[in-house]
Amino acid sequence: MTEGNSAEHATLTSPFVEQTEEAVEKTLRPHNLGEFIGQERVREQLSLILEAARRRGSVPDHVLLCGPPGLGKTTLAMIIAAEMPAPIRVTSGPAIQHAGDLAAILSSLTQGEVLFLDEIHRLARPAEEMLYMAMEDFRVDVVVGKGPGATTVPLHIPPFTLVGATTRAGLLPSPLRDRFGFTGHLDFYDPAELEQVLHRSAGLLEISLTADGAAEIASRCRGTPRIANRLLRRVRDYAQVRADGVVTQQVSVEALAVYEVDELGLDRLDRAVLTALLRLFSGGPVGLSTLAVAVGEEPETVAEVAEPFLVRSGLLARTPRGRIATPAAWAHLGLTPPPAETTAPSATSSTANLFDDLGQEP
Ligand code: ADP
Repeated sequence: MTEGNSAEHATLTSPFVEQTEEAVEKTLRPHNLGEFIGQERVREQLSLILEAARRRGSVPDHVLLCGPPGLGKTTLAMIIAAEMPAPIRVTSGPAIQHAGDLAAILSSLTQGEVLFLDEIHRLARPAEEMLYMAMEDFRVDVVVGKGPGATTVPLHIPPFTLVGATTRAGLLPSPLRDRFGFTGHLDFYDPAELEQVLHRSAGLLEISLTADGAAEIASRCRGTPRIANRLLRRVRDYAQVRADGVVTQQVSVEALAVYEVDELGLDRLDRAVLTALLRLFSGGPVGLSTLAVAVGEEPETVAEVAEPFLVRSGLLARTPRGRIATPAAWAHLGLTPPPAETTAPSATSSTANLFDDLGQEP
Protein backbone atom coordinates (compact mmCIF):
# COMPACT_ATOMS: atom_id res chain seq x y z
CA MET A 1 0.00 0.00 0.00
CA THR A 2 2.49 2.61 1.11
CA GLU A 3 6.17 2.67 0.44
CA GLY A 4 8.87 4.61 2.25
CA ASN A 5 9.57 6.88 -0.68
CA SER A 6 5.98 7.46 -1.74
CA ALA A 7 5.45 11.01 -0.54
CA GLU A 8 8.48 12.66 -2.07
CA HIS A 9 7.86 11.02 -5.43
CA ALA A 10 4.15 11.74 -5.57
CA THR A 11 3.02 12.32 -9.14
CA LEU A 12 -0.28 11.74 -10.86
CA THR A 13 0.94 8.45 -12.26
CA SER A 14 2.76 7.18 -9.18
CA PRO A 15 1.44 3.77 -8.10
CA PHE A 16 2.05 4.65 -4.42
CA VAL A 17 -0.78 5.90 -2.28
CA GLU A 18 -0.71 9.57 -1.33
CA GLN A 19 -1.72 10.60 2.16
CA THR A 20 -4.51 12.81 0.91
CA GLU A 21 -6.17 10.01 -1.00
CA GLU A 22 -6.37 7.42 1.76
CA ALA A 23 -9.95 8.38 2.60
CA VAL A 24 -11.18 8.23 -0.98
CA GLU A 25 -9.39 4.90 -1.50
CA LYS A 26 -11.30 3.51 1.45
CA THR A 27 -14.61 4.51 -0.17
CA LEU A 28 -13.62 2.85 -3.41
CA ARG A 29 -12.40 -0.46 -2.00
CA PRO A 30 -14.42 -3.49 -3.04
CA HIS A 31 -15.84 -5.22 0.04
CA ASN A 32 -16.04 -8.82 -1.15
CA LEU A 33 -14.51 -11.13 -3.74
CA GLY A 34 -17.53 -10.71 -5.99
CA GLU A 35 -16.90 -6.96 -6.26
CA PHE A 36 -13.16 -7.39 -6.83
CA ILE A 37 -12.46 -6.95 -10.53
CA GLY A 38 -9.95 -9.07 -12.48
CA GLN A 39 -7.17 -11.29 -11.06
CA GLU A 40 -9.44 -14.27 -11.80
CA ARG A 41 -7.04 -16.97 -10.69
CA VAL A 42 -6.11 -15.40 -7.35
CA ARG A 43 -9.76 -14.65 -6.70
CA GLU A 44 -10.84 -18.23 -7.39
CA GLN A 45 -8.03 -19.73 -5.33
CA LEU A 46 -8.77 -17.42 -2.42
CA SER A 47 -12.47 -18.11 -2.55
CA LEU A 48 -11.78 -21.86 -2.27
CA ILE A 49 -9.45 -21.35 0.68
CA LEU A 50 -11.96 -19.17 2.50
CA GLU A 51 -14.95 -21.40 1.76
CA ALA A 52 -13.06 -24.51 2.92
CA ALA A 53 -11.99 -22.79 6.14
CA ARG A 54 -15.55 -21.63 6.79
CA ARG A 55 -16.91 -25.16 6.29
CA ARG A 56 -14.31 -26.65 8.59
CA GLY A 57 -14.92 -23.92 11.12
CA SER A 58 -11.17 -23.26 11.12
CA VAL A 59 -8.87 -20.36 10.41
CA PRO A 60 -7.66 -19.97 6.80
CA ASP A 61 -4.00 -20.62 6.00
CA HIS A 62 -1.57 -17.73 5.97
CA VAL A 63 -1.71 -15.83 2.67
CA LEU A 64 1.10 -13.98 0.89
CA LEU A 65 0.12 -11.42 -1.74
CA CYS A 66 2.84 -10.30 -4.16
CA GLY A 67 2.76 -7.65 -6.83
CA PRO A 68 3.49 -4.04 -7.71
CA PRO A 69 1.86 -1.22 -5.71
CA GLY A 70 -1.73 -0.19 -6.40
CA LEU A 71 -3.00 -3.55 -7.69
CA GLY A 72 -5.22 -4.50 -4.75
CA LYS A 73 -3.16 -6.30 -2.09
CA THR A 74 -4.55 -4.27 0.82
CA THR A 75 -8.02 -4.54 -0.66
CA LEU A 76 -7.73 -8.34 -0.81
CA ALA A 77 -6.51 -8.53 2.79
CA MET A 78 -9.59 -6.63 3.89
CA ILE A 79 -11.80 -8.83 1.76
CA ILE A 80 -10.31 -11.97 3.35
CA ALA A 81 -11.31 -10.65 6.77
CA ALA A 82 -14.74 -9.53 5.61
CA GLU A 83 -15.51 -12.83 3.91
CA MET A 84 -14.70 -15.00 6.92
CA PRO A 85 -15.94 -12.75 8.70
CA ALA A 86 -13.13 -11.86 11.10
CA PRO A 87 -11.64 -8.71 12.58
CA ILE A 88 -8.51 -7.35 10.91
CA ARG A 89 -5.41 -5.70 12.35
CA VAL A 90 -3.33 -3.64 9.93
CA THR A 91 0.38 -2.96 10.28
CA SER A 92 3.48 -2.91 8.12
CA GLY A 93 7.08 -4.12 8.13
CA PRO A 94 8.61 -0.67 8.67
CA ALA A 95 6.18 0.08 11.54
CA ILE A 96 7.58 -2.83 13.54
CA GLN A 97 10.94 -1.66 14.81
CA HIS A 98 11.58 -4.34 17.42
CA ALA A 99 10.54 -7.92 18.02
CA GLY A 100 8.74 -6.61 21.13
CA ASP A 101 6.41 -4.53 18.93
CA LEU A 102 5.42 -7.66 17.07
CA ALA A 103 5.06 -9.66 20.29
CA ALA A 104 2.63 -7.02 21.58
CA ILE A 105 0.53 -7.26 18.42
CA LEU A 106 0.58 -11.04 18.25
CA SER A 107 -0.30 -11.52 21.91
CA SER A 108 -3.35 -9.29 21.62
CA LEU A 109 -4.84 -11.04 18.57
CA THR A 110 -8.19 -12.69 19.01
CA GLN A 111 -9.20 -16.12 17.69
CA GLY A 112 -9.38 -16.08 13.87
CA GLU A 113 -8.25 -12.48 13.53
CA VAL A 114 -6.55 -11.46 10.28
CA LEU A 115 -3.18 -9.74 10.72
CA PHE A 116 -2.31 -7.72 7.63
CA LEU A 117 1.42 -7.08 7.40
CA ASP A 118 2.12 -4.75 4.49
CA GLU A 119 5.64 -4.48 3.06
CA ILE A 120 6.56 -7.64 4.90
CA HIS A 121 9.96 -7.66 3.14
CA ARG A 122 10.93 -4.65 5.30
CA LEU A 123 10.40 -6.44 8.61
CA ALA A 124 13.45 -6.39 10.92
CA ARG A 125 15.26 -9.72 11.25
CA PRO A 126 14.43 -10.47 14.95
CA ALA A 127 10.75 -9.76 14.30
CA GLU A 128 10.87 -11.98 11.26
CA GLU A 129 12.21 -14.85 13.35
CA MET A 130 9.49 -14.36 15.93
CA LEU A 131 6.96 -14.49 13.14
CA TYR A 132 8.15 -17.94 12.00
CA MET A 133 7.14 -19.52 15.29
CA ALA A 134 3.92 -17.54 15.52
CA MET A 135 2.89 -18.65 12.03
CA GLU A 136 3.77 -22.28 12.56
CA ASP A 137 2.96 -23.04 16.19
CA PHE A 138 0.85 -20.03 17.20
CA ARG A 139 3.38 -19.31 19.89
CA VAL A 140 5.85 -16.55 20.74
CA ASP A 141 8.79 -16.84 23.10
CA VAL A 142 8.91 -13.83 25.34
CA VAL A 143 12.28 -13.10 26.96
CA VAL A 144 11.96 -12.26 30.63
CA GLY A 145 14.88 -10.60 32.44
CA LYS A 146 18.34 -9.69 31.22
CA GLY A 147 21.81 -11.21 31.08
CA PRO A 148 22.57 -14.74 32.26
CA GLY A 149 19.37 -14.92 34.31
CA ALA A 150 17.13 -14.22 31.30
CA THR A 151 14.61 -16.91 30.49
CA THR A 152 12.13 -17.36 27.69
CA VAL A 153 8.51 -17.90 28.48
CA PRO A 154 6.38 -19.42 25.73
CA LEU A 155 3.20 -17.50 25.14
CA HIS A 156 0.42 -19.21 23.23
CA ILE A 157 -1.58 -17.07 20.87
CA PRO A 158 -4.94 -17.97 19.36
CA PRO A 159 -4.92 -19.23 15.74
CA PHE A 160 -4.88 -16.28 13.34
CA THR A 161 -4.36 -15.70 9.64
CA LEU A 162 -1.36 -13.69 8.56
CA VAL A 163 -1.85 -11.86 5.28
CA GLY A 164 1.52 -10.57 4.12
CA ALA A 165 1.89 -8.19 1.20
CA THR A 166 5.05 -7.42 -0.70
CA THR A 167 6.13 -5.58 -3.81
CA ARG A 168 9.47 -7.41 -3.65
CA ALA A 169 8.79 -11.13 -3.26
CA GLY A 170 12.40 -11.87 -4.16
CA LEU A 171 13.58 -10.17 -0.96
CA LEU A 172 11.66 -12.52 1.32
CA PRO A 173 13.82 -15.20 2.91
CA SER A 174 12.62 -18.64 1.93
CA PRO A 175 11.83 -19.80 5.52
CA LEU A 176 9.30 -16.98 5.65
CA ARG A 177 7.93 -17.60 2.17
CA ASP A 178 7.56 -21.33 2.93
CA ARG A 179 5.34 -20.67 5.92
CA PHE A 180 2.55 -19.24 3.83
CA GLY A 181 -0.06 -21.78 2.80
CA PHE A 182 -0.96 -19.75 -0.27
CA THR A 183 0.83 -17.19 -2.40
CA GLY A 184 -1.14 -15.00 -4.78
CA HIS A 185 0.64 -13.09 -7.54
CA LEU A 186 -1.20 -10.00 -8.71
CA ASP A 187 -0.64 -8.86 -12.30
CA PHE A 188 -1.25 -5.55 -14.02
CA TYR A 189 -4.86 -5.19 -15.19
CA ASP A 190 -5.89 -5.20 -18.81
CA PRO A 191 -7.80 -2.24 -20.28
CA ALA A 192 -11.21 -3.96 -20.15
CA GLU A 193 -10.78 -4.65 -16.41
CA LEU A 194 -9.65 -1.09 -15.79
CA GLU A 195 -12.75 0.20 -17.56
CA GLN A 196 -14.83 -1.86 -15.13
CA VAL A 197 -12.86 -0.42 -12.20
CA LEU A 198 -13.49 3.09 -13.56
CA HIS A 199 -17.22 2.56 -14.05
CA ARG A 200 -17.53 1.12 -10.56
CA SER A 201 -15.64 4.07 -9.02
CA ALA A 202 -17.59 6.59 -11.11
CA GLY A 203 -20.80 5.09 -9.73
CA LEU A 204 -19.57 5.37 -6.14
CA LEU A 205 -18.29 8.93 -6.60
CA GLU A 206 -21.36 9.99 -8.61
CA ILE A 207 -19.32 10.92 -11.66
CA SER A 208 -20.95 10.57 -15.03
CA LEU A 209 -18.54 8.66 -17.19
CA THR A 210 -19.12 7.56 -20.77
CA ALA A 211 -17.83 4.27 -22.21
CA ASP A 212 -15.29 6.03 -24.44
CA GLY A 213 -14.21 8.25 -21.54
CA ALA A 214 -13.51 5.12 -19.46
CA ALA A 215 -11.60 3.55 -22.35
CA GLU A 216 -9.45 6.66 -22.73
CA ILE A 217 -8.51 6.80 -19.04
CA ALA A 218 -8.01 3.01 -18.88
CA SER A 219 -5.44 3.19 -21.67
CA ARG A 220 -3.35 5.72 -19.75
CA CYS A 221 -3.31 4.34 -16.22
CA ARG A 222 -0.41 1.91 -16.45
CA GLY A 223 -2.48 -1.19 -15.71
CA THR A 224 -3.01 0.02 -12.13
CA PRO A 225 -6.43 0.56 -10.47
CA ARG A 226 -5.00 3.12 -8.02
CA ILE A 227 -3.81 5.30 -10.93
CA ALA A 228 -7.10 4.73 -12.80
CA ASN A 229 -9.05 6.06 -9.82
CA ARG A 230 -6.71 9.03 -9.42
CA LEU A 231 -6.90 10.02 -13.08
CA LEU A 232 -10.68 9.68 -12.96
CA ARG A 233 -10.87 12.19 -10.09
CA ARG A 234 -8.61 14.67 -11.88
CA VAL A 235 -10.53 14.36 -15.15
CA ARG A 236 -13.75 14.85 -13.20
CA ASP A 237 -12.35 18.17 -11.87
CA TYR A 238 -11.60 19.27 -15.41
CA ALA A 239 -15.03 18.13 -16.63
CA GLN A 240 -16.75 20.18 -13.92
CA VAL A 241 -14.72 23.33 -14.47
CA ARG A 242 -14.16 23.37 -18.23
CA ALA A 243 -17.01 21.22 -19.57
CA ASP A 244 -20.48 20.10 -18.56
CA GLY A 245 -19.35 17.66 -15.88
CA VAL A 246 -19.55 14.54 -18.03
CA VAL A 247 -16.32 12.57 -18.44
CA THR A 248 -16.21 11.78 -22.16
CA GLN A 249 -13.30 10.75 -24.34
CA GLN A 250 -12.80 14.31 -25.55
CA VAL A 251 -12.83 15.70 -22.01
CA SER A 252 -10.39 12.98 -20.87
CA VAL A 253 -7.97 13.74 -23.69
CA GLU A 254 -8.06 17.46 -22.93
CA ALA A 255 -7.77 16.99 -19.18
CA LEU A 256 -4.89 14.54 -19.39
CA ALA A 257 -3.05 16.91 -21.73
CA VAL A 258 -3.34 19.56 -19.01
CA TYR A 259 -2.06 17.10 -16.39
CA GLU A 260 0.73 15.98 -18.76
CA VAL A 261 -0.20 12.32 -18.90
CA ASP A 262 0.25 11.11 -22.47
CA GLU A 263 -1.46 8.35 -24.48
CA LEU A 264 0.78 5.64 -23.03
CA GLY A 265 0.41 6.94 -19.49
CA LEU A 266 3.87 8.56 -19.42
CA ASP A 267 4.11 11.66 -17.26
CA ARG A 268 6.41 14.66 -17.42
CA LEU A 269 9.36 12.91 -15.73
CA ASP A 270 9.06 9.77 -17.86
CA ARG A 271 9.08 11.87 -21.01
CA ALA A 272 11.96 14.03 -19.78
CA VAL A 273 14.04 10.87 -19.20
CA LEU A 274 13.20 9.50 -22.63
CA THR A 275 13.79 12.83 -24.36
CA ALA A 276 17.21 13.22 -22.72
CA LEU A 277 18.13 9.65 -23.60
CA LEU A 278 17.21 10.20 -27.24
CA ARG A 279 18.23 13.80 -27.86
CA LEU A 280 21.33 14.14 -25.68
CA PHE A 281 22.69 10.61 -25.81
CA SER A 282 21.42 9.40 -29.19
CA GLY A 283 19.46 6.62 -27.51
CA GLY A 284 22.32 5.47 -25.24
CA PRO A 285 23.88 3.52 -23.77
CA VAL A 286 24.20 6.03 -20.97
CA GLY A 287 24.68 5.48 -17.27
CA LEU A 288 21.94 6.13 -14.74
CA SER A 289 23.57 9.04 -12.93
CA THR A 290 24.46 10.84 -16.17
CA LEU A 291 20.87 10.49 -17.28
CA ALA A 292 19.64 11.72 -13.89
CA VAL A 293 21.86 14.82 -14.05
CA ALA A 294 20.53 15.53 -17.53
CA VAL A 295 16.95 15.64 -16.24
CA GLY A 296 17.82 17.37 -12.95
CA GLU A 297 16.68 14.50 -10.71
CA GLU A 298 18.28 12.14 -8.23
CA PRO A 299 19.42 8.82 -9.75
CA GLU A 300 17.10 6.98 -7.31
CA THR A 301 14.10 8.94 -8.57
CA VAL A 302 14.89 8.09 -12.17
CA ALA A 303 15.56 4.43 -11.33
CA GLU A 304 12.59 3.88 -9.00
CA VAL A 305 9.94 6.24 -10.31
CA ALA A 306 10.43 6.61 -14.05
CA GLU A 307 12.29 3.56 -15.24
CA PRO A 308 10.08 0.66 -14.11
CA PHE A 309 7.23 1.79 -16.33
CA LEU A 310 9.50 2.78 -19.22
CA VAL A 311 11.06 -0.69 -19.09
CA ARG A 312 7.67 -2.37 -18.80
CA SER A 313 6.39 -0.38 -21.78
CA GLY A 314 9.33 -1.56 -23.89
CA LEU A 315 10.67 1.98 -24.33
CA LEU A 316 13.89 1.70 -22.34
CA ALA A 317 16.23 -1.18 -21.54
CA ARG A 318 18.72 -1.48 -18.72
CA THR A 319 21.95 -3.09 -19.94
CA PRO A 320 25.32 -3.60 -18.26
CA ARG A 321 26.66 -0.72 -20.39
CA GLY A 322 23.87 1.65 -19.35
CA ARG A 323 20.37 2.65 -20.38
CA ILE A 324 19.34 2.34 -24.00
CA ALA A 325 16.23 3.47 -25.84
CA THR A 326 14.30 0.98 -27.94
CA PRO A 327 12.94 1.73 -31.45
CA ALA A 328 9.50 2.17 -29.81
CA ALA A 329 10.88 5.10 -27.79
CA TRP A 330 11.96 6.93 -30.94
CA ALA A 331 8.57 6.27 -32.50
CA HIS A 332 6.69 7.39 -29.37
CA LEU A 333 8.45 10.76 -29.25
CA GLY A 334 8.21 11.14 -33.04
CA LEU A 335 11.99 11.27 -33.47
CA THR A 336 14.19 9.55 -36.02
CA PRO A 337 16.88 7.21 -34.68
CA PRO A 338 20.43 7.99 -35.81
CA PRO A 339 22.08 5.69 -38.36
CA ALA A 340 22.83 2.24 -36.95
CA GLU A 341 26.55 2.74 -36.20
CA THR A 342 25.92 5.39 -33.50
CA THR A 343 23.92 2.91 -31.38
CA ALA A 344 26.81 0.39 -31.43
CA PRO A 345 29.46 0.69 -28.65
CA SER A 346 31.30 3.92 -29.41
CA ALA A 347 33.62 6.49 -28.00
CA THR A 348 30.65 8.72 -27.15
CA SER A 349 28.87 6.06 -25.15
CA SER A 350 31.94 5.05 -23.17
CA THR A 351 32.61 8.71 -22.41
CA ALA A 352 29.09 8.99 -21.06
CA ASN A 353 29.76 6.05 -18.75
CA LEU A 354 33.14 7.33 -17.69
CA PHE A 355 31.47 9.93 -15.48
CA ASP A 356 28.99 7.54 -14.17
CA ASP A 357 29.31 5.78 -10.84
CA LEU A 358 25.90 4.13 -10.94
CA GLY A 359 26.03 3.11 -14.59
CA GLN A 360 26.38 -0.57 -13.82
CA GLU A 361 23.26 -0.75 -11.68
CA PRO A 362 20.43 -2.86 -13.01
P1 ADP B 1 -2.01 -2.21 -2.92
O1 ADP B 1 -2.24 -2.61 -1.49
O2 ADP B 1 -1.67 -3.38 -3.80
O3 ADP B 1 -1.04 -1.08 -3.09
P2 ADP B 1 -4.77 -1.32 -2.79
O4 ADP B 1 -5.45 -2.58 -2.34
O5 ADP B 1 -4.55 -0.28 -1.74
O6 ADP B 1 -3.39 -1.67 -3.51
O7 ADP B 1 -5.63 -0.74 -4.01
C1 ADP B 1 -5.49 0.59 -4.44
C2 ADP B 1 -6.82 1.13 -4.87
O8 ADP B 1 -7.18 0.50 -6.09
C3 ADP B 1 -7.94 0.88 -3.87
O9 ADP B 1 -8.56 2.07 -3.54
C4 ADP B 1 -8.96 0.03 -4.58
O10 ADP B 1 -10.21 0.69 -4.57
C5 ADP B 1 -8.50 0.00 -6.02
N1 ADP B 1 -8.49 -1.41 -6.50
C6 ADP B 1 -7.44 -2.25 -6.46
N2 ADP B 1 -7.76 -3.44 -7.00
C7 ADP B 1 -9.04 -3.34 -7.39
C8 ADP B 1 -9.94 -4.27 -8.03
N3 ADP B 1 -9.54 -5.49 -8.39
N4 ADP B 1 -11.20 -3.85 -8.27
C9 ADP B 1 -11.57 -2.60 -7.94
N5 ADP B 1 -10.77 -1.68 -7.34
C10 ADP B 1 -9.52 -2.04 -7.07
